[in-house]
Amino acid sequence: MYPRAFAYHRAKSYPEAVSLLGELGEEAKFLAGGQSLIPLMKLRLSTPAHLVDLNFIPDTSFIRANGSLLFGAMTRHSEIAASGDAARLPILHDCAAGIADPQVRHMGTIGGSIAEADPTGDWAPVLLATGANLKTLGAAGERSLDISEFILDAYTTALQPGELITEISVPLPQPRSGGAYIALKRCAPVYASASIAVQLTLNEDHTCREAHVYLGVLGLTATRVDAAEQLLKGQAIDDQLIEGVREAVMDVAEPMSDMRGSAEYKRHAAGALAKIALQAAVRRARGEYVEVTHLYA
Ligand SMILES: Cc1cc2nc3c(=O)[nH]c(=O)nc-3n(C[C@H](O)[C@H](O)[C@H](O)COP(=O)(O)OP(=O)(O)OC[C@H]3O[C@@H](n4cnc5c(N)ncnc54)[C@H](O)[C@@H]3O)c2cc1C
Repeated sequence: MYPRAFAYHRAKSYPEAVSLLGELGEEAKFLAGGQSLIPLMKLRLSTPAHLVDLNFIPDTSFIRANGSLLFGAMTRHSEIAASGDAARLPILHDCAAGIADPQVRHMGTIGGSIAEADPTGDWAPVLLATGANLKTLGAAGERSLDISEFILDAYTTALQPGELITEISVPLPQPRSGGAYIALKRCAPVYASASIAVQLTLNEDHTCREAHVYLGVLGLTATRVDAAEQLLKGQAIDDQLIEGVREAVMDVAEPMSDMRGSAEYKRHAAGALAKIALQAAVRRARGEYVEVTHLYA
């Protein structure tokens, strides 16, 4: 299907993009990679009268490391997957490299993903588990927001009308830290049926100092698994504890039955993913090189 006719505007800077959106009003939208917006427009689920293209604004796609990892909002998933700097947090590579297929990864941006706040998107649980911070620019100037206060509900963020994300910063982890992000998918180009992000830090004696555990896809927003984090804190991570984490994850998951599977199937999948992700995170925290890929079924 063809989208509704729209006017195209090419912004030369973020301030220009913000003021353009202010002038054009509610019928205008920013265009980043177009990998969520264009399909929605083609289905006429989104019918903006104006698109303000962010793709030609200089210096908006970058990855820099200086105490934290800094991503320009227009950084493509594929650039993050290929980045040596981003690989310092393997959970970021797990996420970026597993999104859809190469076409989507080469166009889709981290900023667009977070702005879309699709409950089935991959970035939210990972950025929550790593404690990311967002920089935004709007008519009222710049803001800095913790990711946990940014995603409010399914497809709903703390962005004001006409405000855009400019940067995403992820703190570099302390020594003996490791994480993993694993999703269950039916095939590469589709969104996940269930996913989990685990990021933890070990003490010198290899007990767990702190852990962050978030489920993706299984609620309207990424779901924090407090009970699993509390179970892990201060403990040696053995098979019995991992089993406890699996049960805590299954208790918290609130999946819905849909074309991707029944709620019960997804709840069990989340538990199984928790075990694999936790084991990988611990091995990475101990300094092992561990490759993680999504599961396909
Ligand atoms: C076939 C297919 C499969 C996919 N599979 C997955 C998957 O498995 N996992 C996954 O996570 N994603 C998946 N995606 C989505 C993909 O990751 C998109 O890249 C992402 O959701 C949106 O990013 P974008 O840059 O394309 O944004 P766009 O589509 O351009 O924009 C999305 C929304 O965000 C707004 N926006 C864009 N940039 C900004 C900004 N900087 N500040 C404020 N608002 C902004 C736009 O106005 C729009 O409303 C898939 C997409 C397709 C087409």
